[in-house]
Amino acid sequence: MMLGMLTVGRSCGAARTALRSLHTVYQTAELPETHRMLRETCRDFAEKELQPIAAKLDREHLYPREQVLKMGQMGLMAVEVPEEFGGAGLDYLAYSIGVEEISRGCASTGVIMSVNNSLYLGPVLKYGTEEQKRHWITPFSSGEKVGCFALSEPGNGSDAGAASTVARLEGEEWVLNGTKSWITNAWDASAVVVFATTDKALKHKGISAFLVEMPTPGLSLGKKEDKLGIRASSTANLIFEDCRIPRHNLLGQPGMGFKIAMQTLDSGRIGIASQALGIAQAALDCAVDYSEKRIAFGASISKLQAIQFKLADMALALESARLLTWRAAMLKDNRKPYTKEAAMAKLAASEAATQISHQAIQVLGGMGYVTEMPAERHYRDARITEIYEGTSEIQRLVIANQLLKEYRS
Ligand SMILES: Cc1cc2nc3c(=O)[nH]c(=O)nc-3n(C[C@H](O)[C@H](O)[C@H](O)COP(=O)(O)OP(=O)(O)OC[C@H]3O[C@@H](n4cnc5c(N)ncnc54)[C@H](O)[C@@H]3O)c2cc1C
Repeated sequence: MMLGMLTVGRSCGAARTALRSLHTVYQTAELPETHRMLRETCRDFAEKELQPIAAKLDREHLYPREQVLKMGQMGLMAVEVPEEFGGAGLDYLAYSIGVEEISRGCASTGVIMSVNNSLYLGPVLKYGTEEQKRHWITPFSSGEKVGCFALSEPGNGSDAGAASTVARLEGEEWVLNGTKSWITNAWDASAVVVFATTDKALKHKGISAFLVEMPTPGLSLGKKEDKLGIRASSTANLIFEDCRIPRHNLLGQPGMGFKIAMQTLDSGRIGIASQALGIAQAALDCAVDYSEKRIAFGASISKLQAIQFKLADMALALESARLLTWRAAMLKDNRKPYTKEAAMAKLAASEAATQISHQAIQVLGGMGYVTEMPAERHYRDARITEIYEGTSEIQRLVIANQLLKEYRS
């Protein structure tokens, strides 16, 4: 079933759906019908189209082009984007559920989806002019093109306000110089939202956001990073050397870049939390299945209390993180502040994914350590969720800052 069939009118429909979501989840502890159908559709797609090839994609560093195209047709590459720009027009809870299910099948595909939806399309949708939206969103909704987001630099990741990439205005063109590092989707992307300083004296308030086509003269790609996990998603430096772009490619106003980046990361973190949930669920599924089938001392190891306690702790961590993630998504859908909750969701889900995938290997014993079984891949894939879009240390800082702000106000 195509997601298009599930689409609700964006104008006030998304807000209505969000309110219904909040009500349904809290009152009946169940997802609303729309979201349950979406979950089934995505789960079915992930089981049939992603799970069987995930190991090969990982081993050979292959971009899942065909699958991304199909996801575009299903509305999954632009879940929150209104239908007029080719998206599904659904809410953020729907997006979170979609990322989780796709990541359960293949974590690399999950991050390709997440970066396109929240880090690339998110800021264009929020800050773009009507003309920018038509040009920079519609072709990226279908899965034919994907976008990327370039904030980090070789000299600063967590300290994103210290950006050294610069942009100067020359007549009707911006000229960009500098290097952005670790850019997800870089080798496969057709556009990038990039952050550069337009006024150094203003420090982070002098950073602006720009839209750049890929390829563009003056913009080159670094080598594909050889990573521990999410190996089917490309990661590389973007090098700007007198890269000229039209003046109207500025996103938002000059000096708004840091705010755009931070707001984008707030919502992006819900996507990464959802990716972590998908990885954790896949690891738990694998452990439960193996524990039932593996015989030791004359019975399946699932009969051993030591194994049952592990499975119980894994399920508890996963379910707690999922509730935090859905809550953050629903707060966003209901236009309530969600910075603290998104950081909590990302922190809880990423640490749960690391813990659960670690324990899944333990449940599988030797079989957990070899590529014949997916447990080792889940373990490798989980680790990045504690690093990108703000490390666990940064999430703790965000949570504490918000907490203290609330206390002092
Ligand atoms: C696979 C991958 C994909 C990525 N994709 C993207 C992308 O698409 N776009 C993009 O812009 N970036 C991307 N990144 C970059 C990522 O967001 C950064 O790696 C991350 O923010 C950490 O920055 P850093 O690596 O410079 O580490 P550093 O900032 O140097 O941090 C090193 C250590 O110090 C700790 N630390 C730093 N500052 C503090 C502090 N104030 N308090 C406590 N601890 C602190 C950190 O938590 C960490 O443990 C990606 C990274 C990877 C590995």
